[in-house]
Amino acid sequence: AIPLVVAVTTTLGANNGLLIRQRTAFEEARKIDAIVFDKTGTLTEGSFGVDRIITLDENTNENTVLQMAASVESQSEHPIARGIVEMGDEKDISIKEIQKFEAISGKGAQAEVEGKKVLVVSPGYLEENSISTDNAAVNEARERGKTVVYVLAGDKPIGAISLSDRVRPESKKAIAALKEQGVKTMMITGDAEAVAKSVAEEIGLDDYFAEVLPDRKREKIKQLQDEGMIVAMVGDGINDAPALAQADVGIAIGAGTDVAMESADIVLVRSDPRDVLAVLNISKASYRKMI
Ligand code: ADP
Ligand code: MG
Repeated sequence: AIPLVVAVTTTLGANNGLLIRQRTAFEEARKIDAIVFDKTGTLTEGSFGVDRIITLDENTNENTVLQMAASVESQSEHPIARGIVEMGDEKDISIKEIQKFEAISGKGAQAEVEGKKVLVVSPGYLEENSISTDNAAVNEARERGKTVVYVLAGDKPIGAISLSDRVRPESKKAIAALKEQGVKTMMITGDAEAVAKSVAEEIGLDDYFAEVLPDRKREKIKQLQDEGMIVAMVGDGINDAPALAQADVGIAIGAGTDVAMESADIVLVRSDPRDVLAVLNISKASYRKMI
């Protein structure tokens, strides 16, 4: 027989939008010191819209920049890729046939377009490869907290695309309520420092970590645990899965990837970050019933 408190907790969880996959982790939730949220798709909606297309080469116009980028991104599942492909659709730009598509984990994507290597990559990728560009429109977009990706043909930057994602309206309330409960709130993202800073300030997070590569997200959680904290991680992506598994309490967004859900202890069925509060509250309430 299932102990009554377990059945009650499961039902209470379900009624509050929680799918509890690991009961022992759920019991730990009452002791959480810090919650680390992924940015894209977790605190934000995860759907990027193109803000501007900037040309960085006198022989390449904006439509060509978009066409090259959309062609490469047509094979990527990344939310940035979807935003770029959508913009191409809207502008009736044809997708060119591509070969040798490859995702560059946490940095971008590349493929051959008409036999020429084209990359769509993060500012971090350019820095690492000592490719320098300086463009007023790009700088201005970055200062406005936009996500910027560069389009390279060979090693040469031909353009840049700035995009933005919306913060989920519920995120701010969720963070305020968690802080009130004395939980430290943090954000981790592969996106650029300026974007992370702008989102963290808008939402009121205690701290953030930017430009974290997918395989380093787990290490970051481990580091906080080594500092003596009980840590929860909330995420939606494939790249969050190792961190979700490492966390004392792994929480996946219901609208996220299957891989994230399979690595998590709890799934937020409604994809509402405020439901993290229900995790804490129900965990505390069921503990009181147990003793
Ligand atoms: P997050 O932690 O926000 O989910 P990712 O690790 O998925 O971020 O990506 C980090 C960064 O890598 C993005 O902000 C972007 O600059 C770049 N990137 C990753 N995939 C792509 C892609 N398909 N096209 C363009 N840029 C990408
Ligand atoms: Mg994400």
